Amino acid sequence: MNFKFTDEQQLIAETVRDFANTRLEPVAEKMDKEDYWPHDLFKELGELGLLGPTVDVKYGGAESDYVTQTIILEELAKVSPAFALSIGAHSNLMVDNLCRNGNEEQKAKYLPKLVTGEHVGALCLTEPGSGSDALGMKSTAKLAGDHYILNGSKTFITNAPIADVGIVYAKTSPEKGKRGITAFIVDLNAEGVTKGQKMEKMGMRGSLTGELFFDDVKIPVENVMGEVDKGHRVVMSGLSAERATLAGISLGISEAVSQMALNYSLEREQFGEKIANFQMIQDKLANMYVETMTSKLLVYYAVSKVMENHKANREPAASIYYAAEKSTKLALDAIQVMGGYGYMKEYKVEKFMRDAKLLEIGAGTSEIRKLIIARDLIRTGSFE
Ligand SMILES: Cc1cc2nc3c(=O)[nH]c(=O)nc-3n(C[C@H](O)[C@H](O)[C@H](O)COP(=O)(O)OP(=O)(O)OC[C@H]3O[C@@H](n4cnc5c(N)ncnc54)[C@H](O)[C@@H]3O)c2cc1C
Repeated sequence: MNFKFTDEQQLIAETVRDFANTRLEPVAEKMDKEDYWPHDLFKELGELGLLGPTVDVKYGGAESDYVTQTIILEELAKVSPAFALSIGAHSNLMVDNLCRNGNEEQKAKYLPKLVTGEHVGALCLTEPGSGSDALGMKSTAKLAGDHYILNGSKTFITNAPIADVGIVYAKTSPEKGKRGITAFIVDLNAEGVTKGQKMEKMGMRGSLTGELFFDDVKIPVENVMGEVDKGHRVVMSGLSAERATLAGISLGISEAVSQMALNYSLEREQFGEKIANFQMIQDKLANMYVETMTSKLLVYYAVSKVMENHKANREPAASIYYAAEKSTKLALDAIQVMGGYGYMKEYKVEKFMRDAKLLEIGAGTSEIRKLIIARDLIRTGSFE
């Protein structure tokens, strides 16, 4: 057992930390205040080779792994969880999905521009009437000669207002229900695609979220990703990896807010003493350490499990469930340690609290994650 990152992973962590502190930090407040998306920084990340960590070298990627992907999200989230979320939607939800399920022609056509940052990617699964019950979607795609005609809408899609290409799921055989779904690679600037207004959110501002409307959109048959009517397999192929890596965002938040609370407690004086000397503050700091470290161990344990076996189920669900709930709690604890100043926007910790909450909802809610864990335990009859 070895709890150390490799030299290469360590180098990537340092590169992203430097990028986050020098390039992202100056715009993090503007992102939150104005729901501003720093497109130039997205492209810079592409130039640094950090948008396609898992992509094959032949398509311009780094041919690395999910640990590296998670490190990138963790480090970005320490400064801007919103930026990390958009990168996660692009690199993990969309690009990794294409790597796993696309054919050679599709990868050669789409990956290079996604890796350099010329194109922004999105994963389009959720619909107004189907969130947790994602496969209950209503969008349809009908075969008409050498193309499909896509109709329907998607909502809550990360990057939708600025995305160029999306993986879109639609029912090709509605009569077969959840076994009649197909995944398509869709040009989101094509005729018939309308991008709705960006949605106003409580947190994760600067990561643009929106609706997409498809009105008789023509999709060439060669843009079917995976097999026709087997879209449920494409959805399932990614869920574990998505949960495992996105949990890195929650981890980054926990680390950032815990550090803020510690720094503050070492400076703030009341009753003639540093507040770090008060036992009730120490209680919070000790719990912050334990809960952040537990998140870290669980997050990287789950990532390693998914790398061993793509179908690993309970570990990624447990990791994102725990890390997400703890990041919200720790952000609230940090506000408490920082007292009135913690409640002020200037001290930034309240922004992390608003951002943290999303991870208990997006990419599957806490309730669904617990169902997955419990069902897996019941199926195997074992806690191992
Ligand atoms: C900021 C943001 C970004 C997002 N980005 C994307 C994206 O890029 N792509 C994408 O496709 N989707 C995206 N989503 C959608 C996200 O995945 C869904 O919001 C999520 O799956 C929950 O669906 P819902 O919001 O419809 O809630 P619902 O499914 O309606 O759930 C409402 C409540 O009911 C509970 N519930 C539902 N079913 C059960 C059950 N069986 N047992 C117990 N409780 C249950 C839920 O846990 C929740 O508490 C995003 C969402 C947000 C908010």
